Amino acid sequence: MFEEAVKIVNDSKSIYVVAHVNPDGDAIGSTFATYFALKKLGKEVYVVMPSYSSRFEFLPGVKDSIDKIEKKNYDLLIALDSSDYTRLAVSEEEYKNAKKVIMIDHHKISRPYGDFRYIDDKKASASEIAYLFIKALGVEIDKDIATMLYAGIMSDTGCFSYADTSPDTLRIAAELMEKGVNFVEICQRLNDTMKEEKLKLIAKAVDNMETYMDGKIRYTYISYEDIVKLGLNDEESEGMANYLRAVDGTEVAIYVRGKSDGTLKVSMRSRGNIDLSKIAIAFGGGGHPQAAGYTMNGDIEVEKDKLIKVVGEML
Ligand code: AMP
Ligand code: MN
Ligand code: MN
Repeated sequence: MFEEAVKIVNDSKSIYVVAHVNPDGDAIGSTFATYFALKKLGKEVYVVMPSYSSRFEFLPGVKDSIDKIEKKNYDLLIALDSSDYTRLAVSEEEYKNAKKVIMIDHHKISRPYGDFRYIDDKKASASEIAYLFIKALGVEIDKDIATMLYAGIMSDTGCFSYADTSPDTLRIAAELMEKGVNFVEICQRLNDTMKEEKLKLIAKAVDNMETYMDGKIRYTYISYEDIVKLGLNDEESEGMANYLRAVDGTEVAIYVRGKSDGTLKVSMRSRGNIDLSKIAIAFGGGGHPQAAGYTMNGDIEVEKDKLIKVVGEML
């Protein structure tokens, strides 16, 4: 399975590990677990993560990440949890300066990239695949690696509740727990803790909510200006679609927010009766059946109507 990837790693000295921009728990868990494992193998290794939400700062090593790859030539880029190389938190130039690229992912893929690819859209998280990769590298899982893998798996499975959570997922989580992972703290910090500003953002999202098709579709929009006014950044303003989906009777929740780079980000969540990844791919993005997204271009009102219409037709 990972034989070729292991060979590439063995032949590499300078290695950078990267995930998608706006990193979530899985992006952070899978990259840092891989980073710790490669360090144990004596590699010169860095995680490239130019920005992330402060709520992840309690996790080991996160503050040691770097903003960009200064080296003009390096051996290997390991990309995790990103279905498209343009979504990686490195520039095209940094990407192309890698002699080899390993891609590890669990999205429905529209554009595979890299020299070695391990893509399994049946896996609940990239962190679960990173676990298999680390085992294949022959590295013993220590507490830091376990903490990161657990945080990643827990995040992307919605606390082991989404449909793609498997018996293997739970067996891996059990093994990680045995390494001394502080699972109480991880769950509390990542799921049950927020800044007051975030609570205010939720209020704003609820205030701006629109409903369609008798509440089967819920939509909200927050401008970047409002996000800044609240004192939040791009990463800290994620997650509103989950709250909308939680309302009884909702099939699809849509959250559009303005970003610091002037674009509009669409986040969608479903209850599983509709495959959102198909819609997101049609709009140039990607994701999973129950969670998908894309960058919205053009006039928001026109584009919103288009999206609501497509979703309505699929329901
Ligand atoms: P989010 O709503 O940002 O949490 O994203 C939900 C899922 O959709 C994640 O698995 C993302 O990787 C994927 N996704 C979000 N935005 C994009 C995009 N612009 N292109 C490809 N996939 C995306
Ligand atoms: Mn992710
Ligand atoms: Mn993921």
